[in-house]
Amino acid sequence: MATYAYRCDSDGPIEVRRPIGTAPDTVACPSCGGPSARVFSPPMLGLADRGRMAVIDRAEASGSEPAVVSSPPPSRRRAPAARPDPRTRGLPRP
Ligand SMILES: [Zn+2]
Repeated sequence: MATYAYRCDSDGPIEVRRPIGTAPDTVACPSCGGPSARVFSPPMLGLADRGRMAVIDRAEASGSEPAVVSSPPPSRRRAPAARPDPRTRGLPRP
């Protein structure tokens, strides 16, 4: 079952539940009995978070139009200095 949206000119929006693919172009308004035309709306786009949508768009664009960079991004923290292993202290250094 799916919910289809219709709009009556005098009574406003109407929702009708029917099996998928069986929605007629018009239904009779349950209040006045007049013909109500089907309304099409984009699914859930108004509820999407703008920041999240920007991240998704950027991720999708990187597949076909990757951004070219000339250097790696600046590191925020430095890697800890490697401690010399006492077992190899006496070996010559490169
Ligand atoms: Zn109506």
